[in-house]
Amino acid sequence: MKLDTMYRELGICDQVLEYGKKIEKELEERFAAIDETAEYNQMKVLKAMQDARVSDIHFAATTGYGYNDLGRDTLEEVYAKAFHGESALVRPQLVSGTHALHIALSGNLRPGDELLSPVGKPYDTLEEVIGIRDSVGSLKEYGVSYCQVDLLADGSFDYEGIRHSLNEKTRLVTIQRSKGYDTRPTLSVAQIGELIAFIKKLRPDVICMVDNCYGEFVERTEPSDVGADMMVGSLIKNPGGGLAPVGGYIVGRKDCIDRAAFRLTAPGLGKEVGASLGLNQQLFQGFFLAPAVVAGALKGAIFAANVYGRLGFSVVPDKTQSRHDIIQAVTFGTPEGVIAFCEGIQAAAPVDSYVAPEPWDMPGYDAPVIMAAGAFVQGSSIELSADGPIKPPYAVYFQGGLTWWHAKFGILKSLQKLVDAGIVNIGSL
Ligand SMILES: *Cc1c(COP(=O)(O)O)cnc(C)c1O
Repeated sequence: MKLDTMYRELGICDQVLEYGKKIEKELEERFAAIDETAEYNQMKVLKAMQDARVSDIHFAATTGYGYNDLGRDTLEEVYAKAFHGESALVRPQLVSGTHALHIALSGNLRPGDELLSPVGKPYDTLEEVIGIRDSVGSLKEYGVSYCQVDLLADGSFDYEGIRHSLNEKTRLVTIQRSKGYDTRPTLSVAQIGELIAFIKKLRPDVICMVDNCYGEFVERTEPSDVGADMMVGSLIKNPGGGLAPVGGYIVGRKDCIDRAAFRLTAPGLGKEVGASLGLNQQLFQGFFLAPAVVAGALKGAIFAANVYGRLGFSVVPDKTQSRHDIIQAVTFGTPEGVIAFCEGIQAAAPVDSYVAPEPWDMPGYDAPVIMAAGAFVQGSSIELSADGPIKPPYAVYFQGGLTWWHAKFGILKSLQKLVDAGIVNIGSL
């Protein structure tokens, strides 16, 4: 059977398919550059695994306290080596990205300290961790104050504002790489490096932490290469490579990682306990695959920007901008557009492709949200997924795809749904 016939059988009409082909052809050069980055990062991970002498004994399960869990300790050594940190905490007991960030923050801040975000408001779930929105157990309840300096109108750092906000109480600076659900641009590793250098020059003792969610392996370097004392992320995003069923990581300076570990387990115990429960093989293998998986997701994001950008929809990042995370925002301007897009992503999934997503009132959000995810791992957003709040400007956030071909199919399927719903005119393709 011909490939085109296969696409037809999966419900893609000829016009949508031809339009997709034309766009893919124009992206050859960019895709080649992405492959080169993936090749570099593949060698980086491979070298870390070889240097740490990873062996199949490291895949054995431990239970109970998990004393002398060789696999866990070696996995942490691999993360530390690959990301050029002194130490790492990589655990299934870090249940999500938010939890890892909470542990990194609460482990390293003490009552009376101040936390500074020099890049504007952090990710939604961090608001309750910090206490920007009052919440039981927040850092605020423990006497940690919070200070925020917004980015300037053009997206650059407000260096003057940051200088004024650094005071004798400032103990930790948190820098979020990805824009999350905000409209600011995602920060490049080079920009993060400049910001850290500025802060360290004024206050060398301040801990600089980077929320690296969605950023791993998008570039050749990571925030840990440009001065970050701690770098934090989720294993059901980029570095889990789609295989990690749960987990988070913190990589960086040994004293910072130790303090985080004493917070995660208990003072006196730290990194010495925490059974890996037989998950090590998936965590090693997922990390090994992650550079290639991230490359596929990045191609998907760029493809989506071009598919929808050319049809006149507003896309962030735009068709040609350089990439520093795997997220793509597309603004449809109507609820119907958001819903049709998400229906297409869902219909393209390997799991639950037959269900229709619907907007619902999710806890913590002020408008109904529609989510599309047919994932092997619940909530995994390195797998092809999309979500959009049903409120102006009616934008969807799209990310992931374990392979480029799946990401491509998801976008073609979303376009097909928009065409079928009469939102996109087939004549304009
Ligand atoms: C996803 C994300 C988080 C939180 O991770 P969860 O695993 O969803 O808790 C934090 N910061 C950013 C920028 C993220 O993208």
